[in-house]
This record gives sequence, C-alpha cells and structure tokens, in this order.
Amino acid sequence: MLCNMFRSLLALSPDDVLPSVYLCTNKIAADHENVELNIGGSLVTSALEEACGTSRSKIREMYSELGDLGDVAQACRQTQKLLAPPSPLLIKDVFSALQKISVQTGSGSTVRKKSLILNLMRSCREKEMKFLVRTLVRNLRIGAMMKTVLPALAQAVVINSSYNFNNEGRVENMKDKLQRHSAAVVEAYNVLPNLDLVVPSLMDKGVGFSSSTLAMVPGIPIKPMLAKITNGVQQALKLFENKAFTCEYKYDGQRAQIHKLVDGSLRVFSRNGDESTSRFPDLINIVNASCKPDAETFILDAEVVAVDRNNGHKLMSFQELSSRGRGGRDTSITLDSIKVNICVFVFDIMFANGKQLLGFPLRQRRKYLKDMFYVEKLGYFEYAKEITIEADDACLTSEATLAKISCFLENSFQSSCEGIMVKSLDVDAGYSPSKRTDTWLKVKRDYMEGLNDSLDLVPIGAWHGNGRKAGWYSPFLMACYNPETEDFQSVCRVMSGFSDSFYTEMKGFFSGDKILSRKPPYYKTSEMPDMWFSPELVWEIRGADFTVSPVHQAAVGLVHPSRGISIRFPRYIRTVADRKPDECSTAEDIAAMFRSQTRKMDVAPEN
Ligand code: ATP
Repeated sequence: MLCNMFRSLLALSPDDVLPSVYLCTNKIAADHENVELNIGGSLVTSALEEACGTSRSKIREMYSELGDLGDVAQACRQTQKLLAPPSPLLIKDVFSALQKISVQTGSGSTVRKKSLILNLMRSCREKEMKFLVRTLVRNLRIGAMMKTVLPALAQAVVINSSYNFNNEGRVENMKDKLQRHSAAVVEAYNVLPNLDLVVPSLMDKGVGFSSSTLAMVPGIPIKPMLAKITNGVQQALKLFENKAFTCEYKYDGQRAQIHKLVDGSLRVFSRNGDESTSRFPDLINIVNASCKPDAETFILDAEVVAVDRNNGHKLMSFQELSSRGRGGRDTSITLDSIKVNICVFVFDIMFANGKQLLGFPLRQRRKYLKDMFYVEKLGYFEYAKEITIEADDACLTSEATLAKISCFLENSFQSSCEGIMVKSLDVDAGYSPSKRTDTWLKVKRDYMEGLNDSLDLVPIGAWHGNGRKAGWYSPFLMACYNPETEDFQSVCRVMSGFSDSFYTEMKGFFSGDKILSRKPPYYKTSEMPDMWFSPELVWEIRGADFTVSPVHQAAVGLVHPSRGISIRFPRYIRTVADRKPDECSTAEDIAAMFRSQTRKMDVAPEN
C-alpha cells in the first residue's frame, strides 16, 4: 500500500514525497535535531471539544470505551453535521503546520498551538481526523516503521523508473532489483539518518541509487552498531574459532558518539541519536585536549563512565552518571555545576579526516584511532582496555586462551565493568550501523547469575501496594514491545530492587494523564492490574531465567503458538533514561534470549 502511494506521489506530486515519509514515520525532523511537538493529550482534547462541539466529559467517556484518542476524534467527527465542506488538507500543509507547532515556545504558545491544531481539525475529511490526532499524540499506529516506509519508497522509485525506461516492458530481475534497492536505502539511512538528504538523493538518483551515494557527515549521528548476547566465554570462542578477535572491557556508562565537525566544534550524541552535547561540557574539554593537531574531523564510538577523582579515578555506577540529569533529551550542565566527573573510554572510529571507515576491519580502524589522540592522563580519555587473540590461538581447546579470556573477564568485573565485548578483528570486522551481528558479542555477569542479559522493559500498569508498601504501587506490570504488531506485551510483575524513595517518586509520576481509564487495545496480557499506565519509562530488569507463561504475552507466537515468555525472580536494576518506550527490548529479543537459554540447557543437560 505504501509503495503504491509513493508511486502515485512520485508521478503526480513529487514535492509531497518527503513530507509523506515524515508523516508516515511520525517524525517532524531528524532525531538528532531534538524537535518535539510538545503537545499533551489535554491540549488535543480541548481542540477536539471546540472543533467538533463534543463536551470534555463525552470525550472522556468515549476514550474509556475506545482507548485511542484518534478513534475518539474520528467518532466525534462522524456525528458532526458540517455547514460547508471543509477546504482539503494538503500533505505539505499538514507537515508545515506540525513544524510550526514544534517551534511555538514561551507565553501564549499553548493558544497558538491550539489554533494551529484547530485549523487542521476543521479541514479533516473521511478518516483524516483519526490519523491527524494520532499524529499529534505521537501514537500513529499504522504498522509502518522507517524500515518499512523507506523500502516502500525505494521500490516505488524502481518500479516507476522501469515503466519509464523499459520500452520492452521487461521486468528482468525485478525482484532482485527491488530487494537491492530496499536494502541500499535502509543502509544509507543508517549511516546518514536524515530524511532531508536521503529521500531527495533517492528520488534524484533513481535506480542508480546505492548506499555509497551518500557519505557520512560529522554532525549527523549514525545508527550505532549493537552487540549480540552470548552464553559466556566458551560460546564466544566457538563463534570466533580460527579467527583473530579482541576482547574489550564492557564499561557500564552511557554510549556517546563523538563528532568533530569541519568547523572544529565537537558534538556528542546518545545511543538513539539525540544530541547531548550540552550535558557534557567536560567531555568536550577532555576530547579537545586529547586530539592530536592533525585530527581534523572524526566520528568516534565511546562509553562515558562516571569516575571518582578522589579515589584513583575509580569507575562508578551508571546511576551516578545519570544523576547528572536525565539522559537523552538535552539537559544543559555548566562546567562549574558538575558534581560527577567522567572518563571517556573510546572503542571505535567510523570516520577520520574526511574518510569513511565503516568497511575497514576493526584492526585497521583501531590504528586510525590510536594515531589520532594522546592518552596521557588516565581517568579522562582512555582507549577501552583490550586484549588480542590471534587466529592461531583462537581455538576452543586452547586452555591458555580460555584462561586468558576468563582472567580478563574477571578483571573487568573487578574494575566495575559489566563484562567484556568480544569483537572480530579481521574477518567480517567492519562497523555495521544499527546491526546486531555475530562479530560483536557481549559477555556479561548476568550470564553467570542467571539470565544471559538484562531486559529493558516498560511499566504498563501496577497494583496498589499492601502492608509496608500501602500507598505506593507494587508490583508493577512490565512489558516488552513488538514493533511488528505495535503492541506492548507483558513479561512479568516486578516488586524488588526499588528503594522507598523510588516508590514515592513513581506514585507521583504515574498520576493524572499517565493513568489510563482502561486497558488500551495494544496492551497484550492476561494480567488485570489495578491501574494501567501510559507507556512512559524504560527500566532495566534482571531475572533468573525465562519460562513459558500462560499469563504473559511477550513474544507470543514466536516460541509457542499461544503462550508468551516470562522471567522468574525479576528485579529492578535502573531506569534507562536515554531510551524511549518503543525502543525497549523487543519480542524478538526475548525470543532469541529464550532460545539461547534453551540451547544452553541442551548442551549441558547434566548440569
Ligand atoms: P546493554 O543493556 O547490554 O548495554 P544495549 O542494548 O544497550 O545492551 P548492546 O549493543 O547490547 O547495547 O551492548 C553494547 C553496549 O555496551 C553499547 O551500547 C555501549 O553502550 C556499551 N559498551 C561498553 N563498553 C563497550 C565496548 N568496549 N564496545 C562496545 N560497546 C560497549
């Protein structure tokens, strides 16, 4: 359907293609530009009252019934009698109204935003009201993500150009062409996540578009490479048999992609591409001081970790770092207000002095990295601690290799790290933006404690606490996200790991608009908590192991046709501030972890 829509737009109204991609993906700007609509449900409701003449109490009643403000708005619209047909809504105008809404700040901004929303609402016809309101409340739910929308556009480009240029009507290798083009555009977007650059280039180059058409630009964050979970050192070694690899400490901090731009300025981006430069003025000074004179432009991958300068730069926990302000969205900090110091541990380089290094093997990228910086003062700017295992020593039967890695892993724990990363050095050792591949593995302590890895889950509901916890919420109902179905699927109840002050904070946080009057249709669970929450937070949860559950719906259909997956003995570890609810652990992640647990049991039945 998307492909057909784009084909029509490409042929009839090409200027609408770019805004359509934005609207379909529910974005108004590139992620790193931190542009937000900043509209609450209550502002949309108030505009709806005025646009449709429906009372607030009626809207509330309908919302209780339907559970989706878009559906409510559509129902209000349908019952409304219009005196004159509204002027049509145009794609470009809707997009530009959203952009205008996003720049309204200061006094009177709510009134101006409402007036822009009203103008849009008054022009809605047919199903437009439903999707306009869903767009405004950032919950579009059309079952399409960037990785669906961009390939649809790429395919529309290919199909339209074959019609134009292929007189004989031959559709030779069309399937291959469509697949190649779809992959190329997604790859290009991972390296340059800016629709303003990718979409026009795709439209301009047509079938000639390839992922190398667009080069990385310092200042635009690339999608970070991700790591796969392993069952431990043995499994990692098995995957790298006869291949050179490296082990690095897995630091427990916050990922930072550090860019040096052509104008010499430095900018920092979080794991999900939000700019966080103003949260790290000290990081900017540290990196500036470590650059060699010929380090003109670069893009680095690093972990920022809190350190105790009075205690030999001892690494501190992630919680200490996050006390510098909530991650992700910019919270400015001045140099003299800094209470928690940091060290930057750099582990990769993707771009150096105008050269894109993604295709270079890690061994070579490391050489670039080490040539660019001074590492003189420990505890400020350091390369991730590492050991190298050459291909000859990379075998499961080598006691010496196993002992070397186990000792390195133990040392990483002693140094307050989460474990180690195991990465290919030469074979398939390029930097793959946004991918979880077998060439980047993580070995964490959780494996030894039970689960291979922790989960990032969203609290979607809670019960009223009893006894000592009366007056607070306990337990909380936690869910993962399934991007394919756009559902939050319950995984477990969690009631341990919280401090009293956290309970109090959550009681205040989950109130007002954040408590839903009924279970939304996209919450999948057989649990019936006392209240349902809107998806707002992401918490890291650890447990003992996975079980198949008749109550919880996580990954339902992936490992069992009707049952979901749950975790036993879950406990709260921390709030993951730099992740949005739809970026939490996915149903597929949980299914993969469940399978890897089953494999572990299969290989060692006697244990
Ligand atoms: P986790 O919750 O385990 O950190 P994640 O989903 O955030 O997982 P993964 O890709 O699974 O991310 O694990 C890699 C993360 O580990 C990176 O995002 C980075 O923040 C952190 N990290 C710490 N040290 C390193 C290192 N030496 N190399 C790569 N990543 C590292």
